[in-house]
Amino acid sequence: MSFPGKTLGIVGGGQLGRMLALEARRLGYRTVSWTGASASPPVEGVCDLVLNKSFEDPAALAEFCQEADVATVEFENIPAATLRGIEEKIALYPSSDAIATCQHRSREKNFLRQHAIPCAPFALVNSLAELEAAYAEVGPTAVLKTAAFGYDGKGQVKITAADQLAAAWEEVEGQPSVLEGFVNFTCEVSVLVARDATGFMNTYPVGENTHRHHILDTTHVPARLDEKVAREARDIAKKIAEALDYRGLLAVEFFIKEDGEVIVNEMAPRPHNSGHYTQDAAVTSQFEQQLRAVCGLPLGSTELLGETVMLNLLGDMWRPQLDTARIFSTEGAKLHLYGKGEAAGRRKMGHVNLVGGSEVMARAQALKAALLGEAD
Ligand code: AMP
Repeated sequence: MSFPGKTLGIVGGGQLGRMLALEARRLGYRTVSWTGASASPPVEGVCDLVLNKSFEDPAALAEFCQEADVATVEFENIPAATLRGIEEKIALYPSSDAIATCQHRSREKNFLRQHAIPCAPFALVNSLAELEAAYAEVGPTAVLKTAAFGYDGKGQVKITAADQLAAAWEEVEGQPSVLEGFVNFTCEVSVLVARDATGFMNTYPVGENTHRHHILDTTHVPARLDEKVAREARDIAKKIAEALDYRGLLAVEFFIKEDGEVIVNEMAPRPHNSGHYTQDAAVTSQFEQQLRAVCGLPLGSTELLGETVMLNLLGDMWRPQLDTARIFSTEGAKLHLYGKGEAAGRRKMGHVNLVGGSEVMARAQALKAALLGEAD
């Protein structure tokens, strides 16, 4: 058990680490972040100590383990050897095995299949010949995804005809990939589940997600789903956490089909962008919940305080600055910025939680249009 006053080690230095560190500080913890070496990481100025060093640096590993009492991760693309190195010295939650399963699409898919958890039909492909065979199995509409290091739709190619296979294989640069059958879904949702040291689990209400240019745009809670379908999604999230012998906070993304069938898209072994609404609209934020699970404390209440929309603030809303005055004058809007200097492209710069009141989605859409300069 690590009580307030102890030091939480965070592997990664992005906005999720920053928001976790802010919660940890509120609760009286010290934090150390190991960023893997990046230019101006969002944890800068927020963690007590920032090790802005490579994940391959053995001196950084020793220093991180010396400083931290217990460790967790804020993104999953960390070399397996680094995670195992941490685990040999201090407690790491979730475990390197659980992270490895979520880190790699082929391991993730095999895990889901092994545990009879519903997911899109898929086949693992390592060559163009295997891609052709897989397409015959899961086509005619399919999505080719690189097995490693994919996020926000990167490393993904949609295929609708056999004559697109060679170009698709070139586009993923011949990397080991997964070919998935295209799912005709009516909505995309996600569930956060926390599992503590004793195996007790708590899920949050289901969030309904929309995307803009393949990047999360809004999360609306509660999702507009049948009670039975929502329960099914929460039950599947728990089943995954149990099967991974998970400790910490896990996010599971789902596709919901027209007939109510619930299909897992992917998992993330950490707090998730679609869970940011919990900062202002749940009794316990996802970051506090992660900290509680990792530090061996009891989990907090996941009760929702009101209907909420989380709106992501992407770099294209900086024209050249964000219209913060518009946000501050919007009813129920809570602004979160990640302290990133450069608003390049559609980089995730922050988010707004719009909590309670009537027509919360209409307010979010009006705010978004104004921030993008699309309002009348
Ligand atoms: P991912 O990075 O796997 O979450 O995929 C990004 C987005 O692409 C998802 O949120 C979906 O909107 C879409 N997508 C991914 N896989 C599929 C699929 N098998 N069928 C339909 N849409 C998909």
